[in-house]
Amino acid sequence: MASAPHRIDENTGRYLPVIYPEERPYWDALRQRKLVLPRCKSCKQAWFPLGPACPNCFEIGFDWSPMTGNGVLHNYVVYHKAWAPWLEKRVPYAVVQVELDEGPRLTTNLLDCAIDQIRIGMRVQAMYEDITNDITLLQFRPAGA
Ligand code: ZN
Repeated sequence: MASAPHRIDENTGRYLPVIYPEERPYWDALRQRKLVLPRCKSCKQAWFPLGPACPNCFEIGFDWSPMTGNGVLHNYVVYHKAWAPWLEKRVPYAVVQVELDEGPRLTTNLLDCAIDQIRIGMRVQAMYEDITNDITLLQFRPAGA
């Protein structure tokens, strides 16, 4: 099985996302503290990750559309083992799926929330974590935090 290409930040040892050219609008928006996702020109459904066509109606045309960044925590797991050295400072940490109010479910992290305070169905909001000088990650925190 071929493994996905990856890069590691020299300063932190942290894995960095691989940014493909077709995803550039998403990453550029995150840099500006905005969330944009593909939205179908035909049925108006938003989705992510990017694919060749709308998963709802198979239309090819889409626009990068602003999202509110608001949603609910759909499910989560808590990692207690650091699977990479840089994660030793972060365990235990939650990997969550957030269902945006616009519909898409995103796999992300929940920050600014103690592990025992995490609840399925809790309202969450987007936050933005700069991990290098030119890469910002979409993360989430409890709404109103
Ligand atoms: Zn569609």
